[in-house]
Amino acid sequence: METFCSKLPKIELHAHLNGSLSRETLKKFGCADNDILEYNQAKQTTLDQVFDIFKIAHQATSTKQNLYESTVKVIEEFASDNVIYLELRTTPRKEADMTEDEYVETVIKALLDSESSDIMVKLILSIDRRHTYDQQVETLKTIIKYKKLYPDVVRGIDLSGDPTKGAFFRDIFEKARRNELFVAMHCAEIKNDAEVMEMFDFKPDRLGHATFIHPDFQGSAELWELYTKLQIPVEFCLTSNVVCLTSKSYQEHHVREWMKANMPFCLSTDDKGVFDTTLSNEFRIVQQTFSLNKEELWKISKNTLSYSFATDRDKNVLNEKLDKWKLANIKILKHPYYICL
Ligand code: 5GP
Repeated sequence: METFCSKLPKIELHAHLNGSLSRETLKKFGCADNDILEYNQAKQTTLDQVFDIFKIAHQATSTKQNLYESTVKVIEEFASDNVIYLELRTTPRKEADMTEDEYVETVIKALLDSESSDIMVKLILSIDRRHTYDQQVETLKTIIKYKKLYPDVVRGIDLSGDPTKGAFFRDIFEKARRNELFVAMHCAEIKNDAEVMEMFDFKPDRLGHATFIHPDFQGSAELWELYTKLQIPVEFCLTSNVVCLTSKSYQEHHVREWMKANMPFCLSTDDKGVFDTTLSNEFRIVQQTFSLNKEELWKISKNTLSYSFATDRDKNVLNEKLDKWKLANIKILKHPYYICL
């Protein structure tokens, strides 16, 4: 099954650029060994502590050249994990050597230079909820500017950053939507029913984490009922949640409720560098924890594609790839028994 999970063509929809840098990349760009250990330790931590860790990666990507090379490297690493479609997300930021515009241009250049027949890469630009309303409005202007310049590359907007701080400003995301951006939103990473209600009312295209929604997971019957009506696909990041202690264990991860109720979800790495994981590893964990078969794992990939922000044309190309792969790798002998090679 480990080999199957590794070979399976996968779709990654929730990967933060600066949380995805590998140890080698950090070393190459001059990070101290101690900092690298802290960044890539995958030991249990709290959500609070994890947000400090990103500062280490931000030092490594503080020049245009380093940012470019780091982005190319992250894409190469996803491609070698058989990720065929990647939606990479990052928060535009300025540095001594770089304006916010240059930051976005550099990442876009790296994306365009990295696309190959193996991997298709799109960009989601993030708004950091810790920023003030005015700062968020400024970032939105940058995001819309690049959406207009590169409509096929910049596909969506995300709300992320420390969930214990800052706020979700609905009008910002309404404006984003009017400008043809898909909306992904970190939601219910901590218990905050009032904010979850506001987000549900807005109805983002996808939710990240959705940890505290189901009543068995400190949510409420009301929230869950509303969720089951909305059926917004959720990007689950199991290792991230277990490491950050928002999920007790893989067995007790809330993904099980989505499986039981047949609600839409996908599997993601979140920050593969910080949490020392890969998308294949996330599939393997879910397979082992919930005893999934090959067909079910393939179906997760297939469903994930339908939740992506790809154009219909790109979805058709990728669907064909997934179908061909299934025909060649999962043999159906006699319904309902499958023998998988
Ligand atoms: P960047 O946007 O700089 O490329 O990636 C790192 C940033 O992504 C962090 O500073 C943080 O704002 C956001 N981020 C990464 N992982 C998480 C997560 O698990 N939850 C939330 N809410 N934000 C995250």
